[in-house]
Amino acid sequence: MPTPEIRTTCPYCGVGCGVIVSATRDGWAVGGDPDHPANKGRLCSKGAALIDTVTAEAKGDVRLTQPMVDGNPAPWDSAIRAVADRLLATLADHGPDAVAFYVSGQLLTEDYYVANKLIKGFIGSPHIDTNSRLCMASTVAGHKRAFGADVVPGCYEDLELADLVVLVGSNLAWCHPVLAQRLRAARQQRGTRVVLIDPRGTASSDLADLHLALKPGSDVALFNGLLAHLEQAGAIDRDYALRHVQGLEAALEAAYADAADVAESCGLDPADLATFYDWFTVTPRTVTVFSQGVNQSSRGTDKVNAILNVHLATGRVGKPGSSPFSVTGQPNAMGGREVGGLANQLAAHMNPDDPLDVERLRRFWKAPALKGGQGLKAVDMFRAIRDGRIKALWIMATNPAVSLPESDLVRDALALCPTVIVSDIVTDTDSLRHAHIRLPALGWGEKDGTVTNSERRISRQRAFRQGPGEAKPDWWIMTQVARAMGFVAAFPYRTAVEIFREHAALSDFENDGLRAFDIGAMARVRDGDYQQMAPFQWPLLAGAKRGTDRLYGDGRFSHANGKARMVAVRQQAPVERASLRFPLIANTGRYRDQWHTMTRTGLAARLSAHRPEPLLEMHPDDAAAGGLEEGDLARVTSLRGEVVMRLSITNDQRPGQVFLPMHWNDLFASRGGISRLVTGHVDAISGQPESKHVPVRVEPWRTQWAGLLFTARSLVLPLALDDVPYWVRQEAGDCRIHELAGDAPPVLTGLGDCEHLEYQDATRAIARHAWLDQGRLVACLFIGPQRPQVARDWLARLFAQPALSAADRALLLAGRSRDAGADAGPIVCSCYGVGRAAIAAAVADGRATSVEAVGKLLSAGTGCGSCVPEIKEIIRHAAPVVAA
Ligand code: SF4
Repeated sequence: MPTPEIRTTCPYCGVGCGVIVSATRDGWAVGGDPDHPANKGRLCSKGAALIDTVTAEAKGDVRLTQPMVDGNPAPWDSAIRAVADRLLATLADHGPDAVAFYVSGQLLTEDYYVANKLIKGFIGSPHIDTNSRLCMASTVAGHKRAFGADVVPGCYEDLELADLVVLVGSNLAWCHPVLAQRLRAARQQRGTRVVLIDPRGTASSDLADLHLALKPGSDVALFNGLLAHLEQAGAIDRDYALRHVQGLEAALEAAYADAADVAESCGLDPADLATFYDWFTVTPRTVTVFSQGVNQSSRGTDKVNAILNVHLATGRVGKPGSSPFSVTGQPNAMGGREVGGLANQLAAHMNPDDPLDVERLRRFWKAPALKGGQGLKAVDMFRAIRDGRIKALWIMATNPAVSLPESDLVRDALALCPTVIVSDIVTDTDSLRHAHIRLPALGWGEKDGTVTNSERRISRQRAFRQGPGEAKPDWWIMTQVARAMGFVAAFPYRTAVEIFREHAALSDFENDGLRAFDIGAMARVRDGDYQQMAPFQWPLLAGAKRGTDRLYGDGRFSHANGKARMVAVRQQAPVERASLRFPLIANTGRYRDQWHTMTRTGLAARLSAHRPEPLLEMHPDDAAAGGLEEGDLARVTSLRGEVVMRLSITNDQRPGQVFLPMHWNDLFASRGGISRLVTGHVDAISGQPESKHVPVRVEPWRTQWAGLLFTARSLVLPLALDDVPYWVRQEAGDCRIHELAGDAPPVLTGLGDCEHLEYQDATRAIARHAWLDQGRLVACLFIGPQRPQVARDWLARLFAQPALSAADRALLLAGRSRDAGADAGPIVCSCYGVGRAAIAAAVADGRATSVEAVGKLLSAGTGCGSCVPEIKEIIRHAAPVVAA
């Protein structure tokens, strides 16, 4: 029986919301934790659907429940022995540099700590990197250059205390929805101004008083122009700069060199630009929130420093309502940064290039194998695997075959690597398909430990249910492997709290204020206190009762001289530009209801219903020029590869630019993995890939036929999916839906002894099939020259019926439904399952013409509120045009 009520932390984005899981008669229910400072009871659509993903994972063969060695089930002791032997053999034959770990911001801090200790301290390889490299490595590098440490100075409350919030490269409304909710509430209460700086219109545009749709990659010019403007307006805080900052004059000189015609360089209206500069100049309480739109760039570190420069020049750092603020994508990207999860870090914010730090850590860990210097960052790591320099790779809780740029090359690297070990919670991911050894890990709700959110707040993740089969915590798996390799004394851990105490003690070890990350107060935390531990912010020094919400507000920074550094940065173009061959620039990003490569959120029907298919977003002019219409399939080609997506025409895109979602992997779409397009150009300092600026060509992708396949949740299909060039899979509750398209007629394999109903209209090239198992519908297929229009909701409901009625059989073959026209369409409000069609109908017939009225009529928008921008957009598009 589950424990009645457990406080834990959402495992998705870097907001790190507290959730309360309660036992119910059927399982569990989840709600926001009103006492958690990050969210104060709020949740977004993903958080609210957490139990859906847990329940979906529990079904069928989703979870990996037993270790597998070379394709065979193995008991844990054999699997641990196999991992240890293969790592030891690689060490003996090729040396420590032939071993690498690729880990994840999904790991808990305790897992992360053990991974770093094992590979850096005892295997002696510096090659550990994390998927956070794709997320915020440029911010880490920018923070270290400016502040002397990787420190986020502000806290979430600053969004509510600010008079001006600048969102740069951040679709807060979809990527950090609870922060967007907090900002929206503050805006309503105190009229906070919001400026959105993003090449495209997003759900966050709805929050903004001013949207600067700048040219992609021109952020440094924009902020250099602002720095020069601040000086001309007399808004530089010279006294602060004299006492606390160095590099002002050099940064100003570089800024003036870019400031000649910023509006032109950034493609902005001069009046809008002037408004932004004026608002920033006169508003001391300004918070600049930045995210992947800044980081995922070959100039990402310079972009970060251009933003930090304007805050340092005005003394707006670490003060209430006044600070730069990086928000991270992953739930524990910050925890990974604390333990040295990136290849260019050491544990506890120590520096691998500082011999004193290396020696200090070597003594603390009693780890003679620890050497100094940086390891290979993600993109270079997989190139080294492909080149044969790295021969053993352990992947934990991530799916690099989908998420890394040049993903076809990553798959080649994995196929060539002599030893691939993967720890994961599920049986099948694109990366697991290459694993020689598969290790079943515990998932969210089953494991115990800590995570750190974007405001340096450490919270507990707590287990509320048993893991399936033989699944184990990641830290346990690594501990056993370390012991099997002979490192028994250094890996004595039996519980997560023992690791947490060591991590806290290391943060305090010979620190004396040298390192900002210090949670020495937790070095002796008792087991029971760890269980009850309330969220707190670091630093939490030995003897202190509470952590520190803001850092650097007193002007004392982490560089040896206590001063911050403004960095002289110049605008430089992205590595690749649009050309005759690839005339459009592709931007990539997230959807509201999906998380990373969909291995969890893709299983939840209500999350999948928001965007059932990946959509290529394009401006109407570009679509017309390319001969494309709404809903067409389009081939997107870059220098590296191609994908196929359905077209969505929108004025939110600027001409010359397109947008593609990052989530779809090869289990959910045949041609939707956008990392195939992205080249491996990285920022020279941070190693972060340029994922938001990919020159592409877009062409119509015409096919002879299109189809819709509905199946019961079994993976057995009545056709050969491998032969279908385009398919996208969606979980829809009692059934799965596949969108299909191709040229050669699909090869039907049927479903064994199932009853087969069939309708053919050769003249119109239309076919309808249904398969029934003892009267129960198990599959149906609709094929035609155009995308079949069928009532999907009605069809999906038929799968729940124990037997299909004669009337429904007839309707099915006729391609009709009982309640034709009643399809909800893509889900807008996940909380109440309200579709676009229902909202649009209510708006069109005048029953609801405001967000409030839609809420009253349909409940849409009254739950977590993440869908409010979309409801507004539906109302805007449906509003009658009033003649002037
Ligand atoms: Fe989870 Fe982020 Fe949503 Fe909070 S905002 S509920 S952490 S996904």
